Amino acid sequence: MRRERKKDIIERKYWLERIDAVENKNNKRICPNCGRKMKQQFIGLKHCKCGMSWKKDIGYFERTGDMVFALERRKCGKKWKQVPVIRYK
Ligand SMILES: [Zn+2]
Repeated sequence: MRRERKKDIIERKYWLERIDAVENKNNKRICPNCGRKMKQQFIGLKHCKCGMSWKKDIGYFERTGDMVFALERRKCGKKWKQVPVIRYK
């Protein structure tokens, strides 16, 4: 049983790495939970209908009801950049 589980984890990790490689090429995100294409809300932030989201700096995570997604202006050197942020209600 334990060995099975470990194998599952390794396969899941391998699958996520493969997704990353493909997506970096196509600039597409496939949901690791249900396999559907994720929809972009902002650059660097994508959502899936099943409740999974993806953010550039943290990767995949499960959305909860208290999360609010917004764009925030941040200074990056001399330029101002808009970056997606997660706020909690
Ligand atoms: Zn999904």
